[in-house]
Amino acid sequence: MEAKYNELKTRLAEVHDLSKIGWVLGWDQRTMMAPQGARVRAEQLATVGRLAHEKFTDPAVARLLDDLRPYEESLPYDSDEASLIRVARRDLDKARRVPAELRAEMTRTSALANAAWIEARKTSDYALFLPHLQKAVRLKHQYVECFDETPEVYDVLLDDYEPGMATAEVRRVFAELKKDLVPLIAAIAERGREVSDACLHGHFATDKQVALCHHIVEHFGFNRAAWRLDPTVHPFASNSCTTDIRITTRYYEDYLGPALFGSMHETGHGLYENGVSPSLERTPLCRGASLGLHESQSRMWENLVGRSRPFWQYFFPKLRETFPEQFAGVEAEGFYRAINKVQPSFIRVEADEATYNLHIILRFELEQEIMGGQLKLTDVPAAWNARMKEYLGVEVPNDAQGVLQDIHWSGGMIGYFPTYSLGNIISCQIWEKAQAALPGLDEQFARGEFMPLREWLRTTLHQHGRKFTPTETLQRVVGGPIDVGPYVRYLRAKLSDIYGLSAN
Ligand code: ZN
Repeated sequence: MEAKYNELKTRLAEVHDLSKIGWVLGWDQRTMMAPQGARVRAEQLATVGRLAHEKFTDPAVARLLDDLRPYEESLPYDSDEASLIRVARRDLDKARRVPAELRAEMTRTSALANAAWIEARKTSDYALFLPHLQKAVRLKHQYVECFDETPEVYDVLLDDYEPGMATAEVRRVFAELKKDLVPLIAAIAERGREVSDACLHGHFATDKQVALCHHIVEHFGFNRAAWRLDPTVHPFASNSCTTDIRITTRYYEDYLGPALFGSMHETGHGLYENGVSPSLERTPLCRGASLGLHESQSRMWENLVGRSRPFWQYFFPKLRETFPEQFAGVEAEGFYRAINKVQPSFIRVEADEATYNLHIILRFELEQEIMGGQLKLTDVPAAWNARMKEYLGVEVPNDAQGVLQDIHWSGGMIGYFPTYSLGNIISCQIWEKAQAALPGLDEQFARGEFMPLREWLRTTLHQHGRKFTPTETLQRVVGGPIDVGPYVRYLRAKLSDIYGLSAN
């Protein structure tokens, strides 16, 4: 059995290597590659992707997994060995259900749809994107048909990003969130005091921003022997292994927010990957458990840590030293309010902590209606605009700033959006546990000490990688299922204080 297990492990390590080669090529494409390399790079990515898929779906892997069943059952559920066999079996089951032709057709369609989307967004022309969206949705229906036993169409799509999460569960959680957030945002607009974020706009030299971002994330555990931080257009985090973490951010010379909070956000993703146990290296277990759990980590470092008062008690002097003119007349408290300003807007990626979730809920609702056939694709822009008005009180000026703003649908990523808000919700559940386990966190932050939090996260969450399902992982960390309570409490307390509302 040992021999068979070792053979499985070797085969899976090669699959993993190929997939990580793809990750590095992808990172390079978005940070370093000469633009004219794009066409050939797409072929290179397709080749390594196909090789990884072929190696994984080799009948020998399925035979090994069958043979190893008794071995798996003889081991503790949470052992690395039993987890590897269990997770590989689940992955293989999914990988084998989708015919190669459909997979290839989806990849081709998304390449063309992406090019059309870029053009459509530039000219704010939904009609240009529509035929591609129609094709993408048709292919998604074929994809869903490859899986026969789920109660809802959307479950299959969601499972690609948040394995095991039921659509009904997300609907329940989001309904609760909406019920609490819509009145809170309205109360801020009607009765809240003025909060100015003028200090975030001005002139901020890029080289100084780069130095400041590095300075901050080095306090979180970023170190130059194992990490890189590079500029890009659409920020993301990637890695080739646990000791080669690649994060990215974007710098605007006239606006400080995106680089500052973007780099903390991506560092949160990086810490999750960096914290996976070295014993899981070169296995399919060597990454975060799901997109929702991943986002809980990025949101925690960006918002719960990076937008907190004690954090800026420590870092504000450094900020002022870096940009003395811009912050000459600003106090730490004014800066704290500026970075937490609530401002309904059209654009998801620029939204504040509170309104952000309404952008997600809107997309989640539309995606279900699209896949369910209740909403015709020609009517999506009108439905989008009507709901923006209803949830956020804003009039969408054009489709570029409305339905065409996100890349996801052009890449065939339907079912992805909910994970962003699930991450927000989970981040606060974990945060409450961290605060109970580590008394004095605020005082530590105010002294610039973040390692106790990082170590706690590493021990309770990061080290396990993908050994457990997202539900099991969350259960282990917070002792229960997803719960919107901690997140709503956090937002209500923080924003009532900033906006001078009575806290009920
Ligand atoms: Zn993220």
